[in-house]
Amino acid sequence: MKRCLALAVALAVVAGCGGSGPTSALPARAARATAPASNAASASPTVAPTPVPTPVPTPTPVADVVSQVSLGRMWADLQALCAVQSRDPRHPGHAKAVAYILGQLQELAPLGVKVQVQPFTAEGIPMENILAIVDPPGGAPATGGIVIGAHYDTIGKWTPGWRPAIDPAPGADDNGTGTAAVLEIARILARERASLKERVVLGFWDGEELYYKGTLAFVGALQKPYAYSAFINPDTVGWNPIADRLDVLWWGSPSAALRDRVATANDRYAIGVKPLVNVLADDPRVDLLDSAPFGMVGIPAVTLAERYGPPDATYPGSGTMDYATDTIDKIDNPRLWTKAAKLTLAVGLELARR
Ligand SMILES: [Zn+2]
Repeated sequence: MKRCLALAVALAVVAGCGGSGPTSALPARAARATAPASNAASASPTVAPTPVPTPVPTPTPVADVVSQVSLGRMWADLQALCAVQSRDPRHPGHAKAVAYILGQLQELAPLGVKVQVQPFTAEGIPMENILAIVDPPGGAPATGGIVIGAHYDTIGKWTPGWRPAIDPAPGADDNGTGTAAVLEIARILARERASLKERVVLGFWDGEELYYKGTLAFVGALQKPYAYSAFINPDTVGWNPIADRLDVLWWGSPSAALRDRVATANDRYAIGVKPLVNVLADDPRVDLLDSAPFGMVGIPAVTLAERYGPPDATYPGSGTMDYATDTIDKIDNPRLWTKAAKLTLAVGLELARR
């Protein structure tokens, strides 16, 4: 509509100048044009009121935002996620888990959060990523977005005789803890939306246990130049009887600054992860992490995990990962779980306010 009207006006003007057609309009405008002038002499000039800028609320300090992480809410999420028996995409519990996560995210819609489902098929199995998009009030810049995400799917493949479509795979630690942490971060970031400068996508990935199929689908659907400049991935962060330890798996030089920001944030906000162990991830066939597809295309990416490797002095080895015995009663370090959620939030928020 807009373009053809201009054309009509242009045409009218041309007619006025050259021909006799719809000229009636013109003189009137000419007459009108002069009218204000004559009034000008008498009336005092009307000064347009200077627009009062709407005050931008001072952002809540990151340390205060981080302190809002609620272990109670995360426990409630974990109970709901484990109650569905299994979140393997071949098991009926998977759809219940999707419904729960969607339900939690849709409660944030009134705060301006957009919720999307990204369906895809891998190995002939239908799967779905769930995305919650938190945009700055003025809209998202084309690049520089932040992705914070965790896989919600589970598996029990190491349990002898385990049948994917029938047997339980509660995945409390792997990765109910990460999923609950990202749900909690979504709740908090939705309320901090006004302070954001970058888009934040909270991703709930499917198919990680079948070799990171969900993030592969997400990254595979991205156009270049990539809209995202960081990915932070909490995965299995609730078990360790002896230390509040986290491994930071980082994907080579593009991810080095993000790796260092994790360490700085841990100190700056006194989050208290100790030790924080940097582990280089450089082989997507070995480092089977949701951060692999991001790292492989050069998007800075880190995975935060209670341990990704053999047991050692500060990690005795849980023995439940990818077993049907990864049950909620095995979560023995909720303090570590809370610290992992806080550290993920702190780094994400710093980057989203840049
Ligand atoms: Zn996992």
